[in-house]
Amino acid sequence: MLFASVTASANDEKSTTPNVAIAIHGGAGTILKSSMTPEKEAAYRAKLKEAVEHGYSLLKQGVKGEKAVVETIKILELSPLFNAGVGAVYTFDGEHELDASIMHGGTKNAGAVAGVKTIKSPIEAALLVMNESPHVMLSGKGAEAYAAENGLEQVDNKIFDTEFRKQALDKAKARMAQASTGYGSQQGNERFGTVGAVVLDSEGNLVAGTSTGGMTAKRYGRIGDSPVIGAGTYADNESCAVSATGHGEYFIRYHVAADICARMKYQNVSLDEAANTVINDVLVKAKGDGGVIAIDKLGNIAMPFNSKGMYRASISTEGVVTVAIYKD
Ligand code: ASP
Repeated sequence: MLFASVTASANDEKSTTPNVAIAIHGGAGTILKSSMTPEKEAAYRAKLKEAVEHGYSLLKQGVKGEKAVVETIKILELSPLFNAGVGAVYTFDGEHELDASIMHGGTKNAGAVAGVKTIKSPIEAALLVMNESPHVMLSGKGAEAYAAENGLEQVDNKIFDTEFRKQALDKAKARMAQASTGYGSQQGNERFGTVGAVVLDSEGNLVAGTSTGGMTAKRYGRIGDSPVIGAGTYADNESCAVSATGHGEYFIRYHVAADICARMKYQNVSLDEAANTVINDVLVKAKGDGGVIAIDKLGNIAMPFNSKGMYRASISTEGVVTVAIYKD
């Protein structure tokens, strides 16, 4: 009798307070305290906190993981602080070409858009591709047409402009003009700010999403890892959900997000070990800089990076909030 009533109240407890958790990132790179003003740092911290708390509150209300990921990322896409949506880096030609993806670890369904210029929220478009299309990735004008036909807001590419990113383009171009090794030698520190979210929702599903403007001064239709399922984004309920940020070419070649999940699944190692091995061993040896946020089905969170800093925040299953930028 006593046992029955304990079970009942435990179940009640479970249905009112689902075991949910979330982690987000706002990009990795050479982010140094010495080059940050207190005002700028406070602005980054406040926006990360706002986004992670919003996502967490949706999850707590029982909102599905994919919706929580999209709504969280939309806050970051609309903030000029990050390299996604408004505030996206410029291409060599002075425009913005945006990439985004989302994956659901329960259904293994995924959606992505690449190189889009007029979709206000690329992560919403990725969700649309995942939920409504028979495809995984749509690109360029086709993706824009599909988004428009399905009622997603279209905007002028200029709404993504910011002075800060324009200066970064000018710097990158000046470096390219001086470099003797040609295209590709320009990549510097002007890239950071990609955004992503990973969640454990109240139904036990793991979902990951990523949105970015890519790399400053990119040309020739370059696409990075962010919209590539398995590289910049991956989710699998049997292991983990991962969103990456960093030098995309390495993340594609090393299949970073999927490799972390595979290590958990087949080597039976912890989330922490799998994520750390890939970021701080495999990628370091390859000289690929960046980091990931990752979450497993118990709500464990790992946020390793091998760069100087990574904008990041999380809320654990116990409701503990962390917001951080630098190594410690
Ligand atoms: N991974 C992104 C890309 O290569 C950039 C970043 O995360 O900073 O497009």
